[in-house]
Amino acid sequence: MDLNQLWQQTLSEMEIQLSRANFVTWLKNSQLVDQKEGIFYIALPNNFAKEWVENKYEKNILGILRNFDSSAKKLEFIVTNHEPKLNKKSSLEISVDMGRLESQAGLDLVRVDPETNLNPRYTLDSFVVGSSNELAHAAALAIIQEVGSKYNPFFIYGGVGLGKTHLLQALGNEIKFKYGGKLRSRYVSSEKFTSDVVWAIRNKRMEDIKKKYRDCDVLIIDDIQFIGGKEKTEEEFFHTFNALYENNKQIIISSDRPPQSIPTLEERLRSRFDGGLTVDISYPDYEMRVAIIKNRLQAANRQLPEGVIDLVAHSIQRNIRELEGVVNKLVFYQDSKGGEIDKKVVEEIIEKTTQNFFGRITDDQILKAVADFYAIQLPDLVSRSRKKEMVEPRQVAMYLLREILRMSYPYIGEKLKRDHTTVIHSFEKINQEINKNSPFNQKIIMIKESLLNNK
Ligand code: ADP
Ligand code: MG
Repeated sequence: MDLNQLWQQTLSEMEIQLSRANFVTWLKNSQLVDQKEGIFYIALPNNFAKEWVENKYEKNILGILRNFDSSAKKLEFIVTNHEPKLNKKSSLEISVDMGRLESQAGLDLVRVDPETNLNPRYTLDSFVVGSSNELAHAAALAIIQEVGSKYNPFFIYGGVGLGKTHLLQALGNEIKFKYGGKLRSRYVSSEKFTSDVVWAIRNKRMEDIKKKYRDCDVLIIDDIQFIGGKEKTEEEFFHTFNALYENNKQIIISSDRPPQSIPTLEERLRSRFDGGLTVDISYPDYEMRVAIIKNRLQAANRQLPEGVIDLVAHSIQRNIRELEGVVNKLVFYQDSKGGEIDKKVVEEIIEKTTQNFFGRITDDQILKAVADFYAIQLPDLVSRSRKKEMVEPRQVAMYLLREILRMSYPYIGEKLKRDHTTVIHSFEKINQEINKNSPFNQKIIMIKESLLNNK
């Protein structure tokens, strides 16, 4: 694989982890320009992008790069003045295509209300409820009835593309709908919050920020994990939080993991989250995936054959965003080509959309790969037994389930019959081990390779 290919692969993985806006803003003009002795040099168009990517995404990028090239040890970020062109059809172009497809399918994305920052496309009506999100949904309904007093703060966590942003925004929209101007909501991503605070400090305008975020009845913060570790931002968030909380204002937060496992989040902030209601959104089951596809088709006023719907619902299990992406592409294909869609086309579109490296590997395949690697029996791997020789395989299994599939800690805990705090501890332990111990890292790579080979 040459550097360009390597980078394109890495970017398509990053794209799945980030929101489209973030991906386009921060990584669109990046390039892998060189590698020497395990150091990979990544060029970004300006200092601001360099700082941002370095602070936020370095670990993720390195992790992904390592999956493709195990010699990667370290990243160096450099600034180039020219904006490099991406050669082959990049994930970026694919995502731009997707935007076009979405608007062609009548699903306009950009109608954000400047007051509240809410996108009216996200409603509870269009939110399909199933076993994976019914608790979160029920809590949302309760909050709409008793804003600020029932569950405060309300904390939702779960993997990428599972509907956190949708539910958060729907909450804001429904509150606005029910209470009109009486309750003011404000939605903000933690990135935007961070950049606002940074801007305010630089320009000595902290008062503006305080006003903006404390002067509302419902504050919705998306992807809080990105706030962790930035002292000033955390400080400001903490004060905002307290000011709102003490005045019975509703606080709604999302994250990709539970509060206790955002490592850099200050203890005082974390314990505040524990005081409210924390719920998990997990993977949709088959019925729910079918319902989501049908819902989407109905919204776009289109139809697909039952067989196609079934195939898509079977193939994409862990990311509703990908599920929707495939449906949009199929609809577009049908519109432009007309006639029947054969199985091959569907499979191709699925393949393209789920381009991330590990594709459609399942949790059971991971468990089996780990058991095979350590030459142990699968039932022993997932048993409650405390045998010493099972400790490492089990921790590795937990780590891989998290790393590859982004499963929630409680879900992994259930699979391996362990408490979710044990899972978190294992994940962190293995993560450290990989970083400081290269033979160990080699083991992990071998397991990953076996997964890819048996795909
Ligand atoms: P997250 O914020 O968890 O990464 P999003 O809320 O952005 O995920 O969801 C990804 C896409 O899937 C969005 O287009 C969203 O509308 C859709 N989606 C997620 N969950 C549901 C659901 N339960 N019903 C209908 N659409 C959903
Ligand atoms: Mg989101």
